[in-house]
This record gives sequence, C-alpha cells and structure tokens, in this order.
Amino acid sequence: MKLYKKVETITQIPWYYLAAIDQYERSVRLARRDLPKAEGVIGIYYRPEVWAGLTNPNPSEENPAVIQFFNGMGVDGDGDGKASLKSDEDVLYAFAHYLLSYGVDPDNIKIGLWNYYHRDRTVGIIAGKAKIYRHFGRLDLDKRVFPVPLYSNHSYRSTWGDARGWGGRRIHEGTDIFAGYGVPVRATAYGIVEMKGWNKFGGWRIGIRDINNTYHYFAHLSGFAKNLKVGQVVEPGMVIGGVGSTGYGPPGTSGKFPPHLHYGMYKDNGITEWSFDPYPHLAQWKRMERIELRKAKK
Ligand SMILES: [Zn+2]
Repeated sequence: MKLYKKVETITQIPWYYLAAIDQYERSVRLARRDLPKAEGVIGIYYRPEVWAGLTNPNPSEENPAVIQFFNGMGVDGDGDGKASLKSDEDVLYAFAHYLLSYGVDPDNIKIGLWNYYHRDRTVGIIAGKAKIYRHFGRLDLDKRVFPVPLYSNHSYRSTWGDARGWGGRRIHEGTDIFAGYGVPVRATAYGIVEMKGWNKFGGWRIGIRDINNTYHYFAHLSGFAKNLKVGQVVEPGMVIGGVGSTGYGPPGTSGKFPPHLHYGMYKDNGITEWSFDPYPHLAQWKRMERIELRKAKK
C-alpha cells in the first residue's frame, strides 16, 4: 500500500488502479505456466524485450536513457539511476508512467489499459478490482464464507464432472448445495456483481468476480436480494438471493427439481476462462467459518 500511495503521489494515478493492475497480473501469473512467478512484492510482469524496447539489441538493458531511446517500458522509479525489472518501485512506476501518457481519469485509464492488453474482459476485470479496492480502502480482502448460513439445514457432496441430473449431457461444472426453498444465499468473497439475470438452464443467476480473477456463479435462485445491482461491490456473508429451483424453461419456470444452490467457480488467466471444482474450497470455507464462529463465542 505504501508503494501504491507513493506512486499515486508522483503520478496522480489513483492507488486503487495500481493495486488492481498489480493484483490482476499477480493472479494471471499464478494461473499460468508460461509466465515466471513474481519474485518481488509487485506482481506486474513485463517481457524483458518490452521493458528494454523491442528493437534494443540488449534485452537486459537497465540504462533508462537507452531504454527510452528504444521506446521500452522501463523507467527508473526508485532514483538509483537504473531501470531494473528487479526493483518493485521501477516495475510499478513503469506502468503508472505508461498510463500517464493517456491521462489520470477513469476513462483515459481504461483506454490505456485497452491499448496495453487488447482484451475487453481484462479491462473490465481491472476496473472492477479498482472499484472493490476503492470501496474498502484496503488490500486485505481474502476472507471467504460458505454460500449458505452454517446453521441452515443443508447438504452437499462432491459431484464434479458427474453427468447432470437435469439439463442434458454437459458435465456438471460445480457443486450442488441442497437446502430449503428461500434459505439465504450469501456472497462468498469480496467482489463485484458481474452478472445478474435469467438463463434457460440456470434460472435466476448471479455471477461475482473476486480480486483473484475468480468468478463465483450462483444458480437456480428463488430471487435476488432487494436492490442488488450489476456493478455492486459485495463482501463475504452479504445476502444476494435465496435458494430456489428455477431454470429449465422460460423466465420464471421453477419446481422441475428439488431446491438447491448450484455453485460454480471459474478462473480467468488473461487469455481464457475455465471452470474448476469448488468442492474442496467449499469444505475449507466451512471449516474456517466454524473456527471463526467458535472464536467469536468465547
Ligand atoms: Zn449443479
């Protein structure tokens, strides 16, 4: 946070955008095998030739004047006379310096991000993260909770990859949590509502993107929490809807199967998005929440 604030002071690029870009890149590096893992505090990655300048014969160039001559991204942020990929401050300042050529208001930042990533989804994800960081004013947003209250009567088991009980031949991409009709469904993470609406299969659904580029998908809801909007920032435990049995027909169709929450998780790696098994995560969140509740009682 100190580094984000410092670069904000110098460049006027809001700290929450810097934090959002950094967190986006860190998550992408964790999800991909073709990128080296981050060594410093800052997670932003530049290919050496992008840092040094594409036509620079020396891809490990650290002389800021030479890098500038070859139009590289590298700059000297920490004032040691070198533009080094090993310096967190140089790495972060270089991105801010790049954005600065577009401007410091959200629209210009978005244009800068688009010209850098050439991917609408990435620009949207980063803007969402910036909104989340700005809303909470802090970086520590890792808390998770189980999607239905622990005291509610519910059951779930690992069904990853099973044939679907209802809805055709696609494999089952998620975990079904069986509970009573109308049992509250809660946001499991700090995030932003990316999608809310009807789909023929999933019924009333909500999609929430967290700060690790993970998309949490809630389907077959009985309805939505009042005033819940796309673009809204949520936190773990916030009620977003109710367990239901909607889906498999035109809007409003329900009752074709017992009420349950279909919970899915999807990971974005900057290129594509894929689903992974939520079951181990659900089990862990439940354990963690139980421990927290016990602590609170003491
Ligand atoms: Zn399901």
